[in-house]
Amino acid sequence: MPLKHGNSDRYDSSKNMNNPYNTPKVDYNDVKKAAKAISRMPEKQKKVVFILAGIVAVVAIVLAVLTSKGYLNTDSAQNGISGDTALNAVKNNGTSVHFIDVGQGDSTLIISNGEAALIDAGEVEYGNTVLNYLNEQGISSLKYIIVSHQHTDHMGGMSKILKNIKADELIMPPIPDRLFPTNSTYDKFLETLENTDIAVTEAENGTLTVGEVKLQMFVQSPDMPYESLNDFSVAIRAVHGDNAFLLCGDMGYDAEQVILESGFELSADVYKVNHHGSAGSSSYKFVEAVDPEYSVICVGANNDYGHPKQKALDRISKFCDKIYRTDLNGSIVFKSDGKELTLVLEKE
Ligand SMILES: [Zn+2]
Repeated sequence: MPLKHGNSDRYDSSKNMNNPYNTPKVDYNDVKKAAKAISRMPEKQKKVVFILAGIVAVVAIVLAVLTSKGYLNTDSAQNGISGDTALNAVKNNGTSVHFIDVGQGDSTLIISNGEAALIDAGEVEYGNTVLNYLNEQGISSLKYIIVSHQHTDHMGGMSKILKNIKADELIMPPIPDRLFPTNSTYDKFLETLENTDIAVTEAENGTLTVGEVKLQMFVQSPDMPYESLNDFSVAIRAVHGDNAFLLCGDMGYDAEQVILESGFELSADVYKVNHHGSAGSSSYKFVEAVDPEYSVICVGANNDYGHPKQKALDRISKFCDKIYRTDLNGSIVFKSDGKELTLVLEKE
């Protein structure tokens, strides 16, 4: 597994942490096959690169000055002009959480104060959908890419993103060797990682920051005897002021029980329903602990699994009457001002 252990300093481990397992710190091999290309360039070529970089820097400074003086309009939403769709109007302002419609799969984008994190990117064939969405939102770089777990409906589209959007770090949960994926989509994903500069790290318990949003993370121990990768999904509680969003990938009952017993804070205003609304997830006790105002189900129309299952919907409905689905509502966006949430639906 070509993961390397991250710089733990950026995780604030004091918050929302009560991991009953001492998740082992594993040293992984470096994914970066080659050192940065520039270090291998001949001197002449380097000089040209530096001169070009200088010109680019001067142009960037001039543009920045013009923009700050109002000579250039760079953001139509800022100027009160909304785009073609309601979603375009959300644009890259303030803080927003986007559940991107990727059919039967997950993709969540968090934007805050000019920084962004992408959690999952749907199946391979949705890579373009997610990339276009990021472009529409004016996202040219990502602080974090998080893969909730290594199944194709979560990491399949990620190769497309990695090839087209600059990202600082990709984070994945540690998994046992026995469940290491052996499909070609995952092989291609790893190959893409090897050919990019991105730092690949193992998810850790603790808190990461994206703009004004705190990402509180709970990571399952790879020593757990779970039979499915689903249960090794990273749990993320994204907090912006009074508003919280809970994203637990495809976690099922067993993993939900572990997280319940861990003391990890689960309460959230918005619950991304576990495992696309499968019957074996969203246990009564789990949903009770989350007690969401809104639930979002990321699910494909007429999917082969029959998701969401009525049993799961019934349990969620006991605590939440505002349930939105990507198969019915398209992409689902929440804007947060730290106190109130504003819901924007692609389709009503
Ligand atoms: Zn899934």
